[in-house]
Amino acid sequence: MKKALPEHVPMDQFKVIDNCLQVGHVAVDRLAERVGQTPFYAYDRQLMTDRVAALRGQFPEDIHLHYAIKSNPMPAVVQHLAGLTDGLDVASLKELRVALDTGTSPRNISFAGPGKSDAELKAAAAAGIIINLESAGEMERLATICNQSGHRANVAVRVNPDFELKTSGMKMAGGPKPFGIDAEEVPAVLKRLGQLDLAFQGFHIFSGSQNLRPDAIIEAQTNTFALALKLADHAPSPVQWLNIGGGFGIPYFPGEQRLDLGPVADNLATLLARHRADLPEAEIVVELGRYLVGEAGVYVCEVIDLKKSRGETYAVTNGGLHHHLAASGNFGQVIRKNYPVCIGNRVTGDPLTAVNVVGPLCTPLDILGDKYALPPVQIGDLIVVFQSGAYGYTASPHHFLSHPEPVEVLV
Ligand SMILES: *Cc1c(COP(=O)(O)O)cnc(C)c1O
Repeated sequence: MKKALPEHVPMDQFKVIDNCLQVGHVAVDRLAERVGQTPFYAYDRQLMTDRVAALRGQFPEDIHLHYAIKSNPMPAVVQHLAGLTDGLDVASLKELRVALDTGTSPRNISFAGPGKSDAELKAAAAAGIIINLESAGEMERLATICNQSGHRANVAVRVNPDFELKTSGMKMAGGPKPFGIDAEEVPAVLKRLGQLDLAFQGFHIFSGSQNLRPDAIIEAQTNTFALALKLADHAPSPVQWLNIGGGFGIPYFPGEQRLDLGPVADNLATLLARHRADLPEAEIVVELGRYLVGEAGVYVCEVIDLKKSRGETYAVTNGGLHHHLAASGNFGQVIRKNYPVCIGNRVTGDPLTAVNVVGPLCTPLDILGDKYALPPVQIGDLIVVFQSGAYGYTASPHHFLSHPEPVEVLV
């Protein structure tokens, strides 16, 4: 018997009416007219609202939910999520401005990232947000800046833990890393921090990203609490703030399943109950990017040409790698796999045939669908790439080959 090939999980977060995909209650072909051009990104605000509600429904009440802006910094999206979450995490001065524009209290904004410039540190101190210190050198530089400007900065120590989030799409901790201060160095840094005129708030411990396995996330969260407790003994003042990271993944590729939140939420409740007395003043923050926005977004481009080459069918679109690097397989993938794709204006149809959906760039890397099973494709059809709400527009080289830029809309 032939083994069934792995498939994508159904993209059933979007409704289909009259065989046409709906985004934000608008048929995608009508949405294309409304936007006024293809390609475009469309983000469904209701899906983001639902996602946050689902998390709130399962998580312990005293978990603070933050949105990591870098996954999708479109100001309208950030504004929408600012109203739903408890805070925002930024990674640059421009993201900080977008975050402050939403009216979010500076107390609920934090700034992480290696290589913060003096200008960024100065602005962050003036804003009164929490600055996650990525190195001993950055701490000294910030202290000097604060002495000059007279603003006492709120700081947290970002820890490079001595463990990792296993089977993560992107490992960001354990071993040598540019992110955070090695756990074993943190006690000495905390001692020095106590001598400087900086307001210690707590710790930021982020161990990885794009994880779909509850057991791996549970293990990392348990290790994170243990490490924070150990380090708290060396802190110059009680821990007010503990950011335990996030790393919740979404299914991109065939065979992947949606993350089962239940066990993760249960473990968080257990950890909070166990450690409440040890960290009585600490606000516990979970920071999520793609999990909040990734599944709510689509990228839409249009078929410009159809051709055959030595037996294979090519649908050439006006969108591709330059707008959506991740879907082309060039954003950290080792082996290229297809994102889920459909024809937005003809979701189902017979016969299904293998189509190569490619972009207009003169490079063999510009692929949106490699031998993807699609209904008969016509010129003018709208190709929809799902799971595009995070690390899509923002993580793509728009200038490569100088084609027009995509538009972003929140629907
Ligand atoms: C990138 C990043 C995030 C967001 O990761 P997602 O996979 O989008 O959830 C959160 N925290 C830090 C420190 C990051 O660098």
